[in-house]
Amino acid sequence: MKGNFFTKIVYEFYYLSFFLSERKKKQKEKSNIANKFLKYNNERVLKNIKDKEINKVLILLPHCLQKYSCPLKITSSIENCKKCGQCVIGDFLKIKSEFPVEVKVATGGTLARKHIKDTRPDLVMAVACKRDLVSGIHDAYPVNVYGIFNEIPNEPCIDTTVSIQKVREFLKEIF
Ligand code: SF4
Repeated sequence: MKGNFFTKIVYEFYYLSFFLSERKKKQKEKSNIANKFLKYNNERVLKNIKDKEINKVLILLPHCLQKYSCPLKITSSIENCKKCGQCVIGDFLKIKSEFPVEVKVATGGTLARKHIKDTRPDLVMAVACKRDLVSGIHDAYPVNVYGIFNEIPNEPCIDTTVSIQKVREFLKEIF
């Protein structure tokens, strides 16, 4: 997949601005940049895939979506989830049975890249926090990665969640 020089410059600009604001500890500025970058990226992805046939989507999830106290090993396969309803992993199992998607939990960038290489999807949909999603989308360019930020109700990296409605809306739009 070939990238566009101008788009690459825009990605670099957002990426550097985000980490600069993080270094300066400017939370609001950092959040604004992440939101703008995600909007720019997602619009670009949707434009790119318009009129293209999408047969397979890889959904990449962060491990922190799983209930912290759950002992089941979903990093090797989300099929190990018993759908008890205490976190959204069970919802993704349901989504997997309804749409032509692969759902993988990536504990880091290396694993995420491996899942993309193994799955060879037409499109990636990634859920992550602002920091991980900004760097993940930047690093993956020109691969089409549609992003959705996870929600952090308590402390970061523990018991996070994501809007299943947003995920479903996106999947309904492309299939
Ligand atoms: S839905 Fe329940 S069983 Fe599945 S991962 Fe979450 S806590 Fe564990």
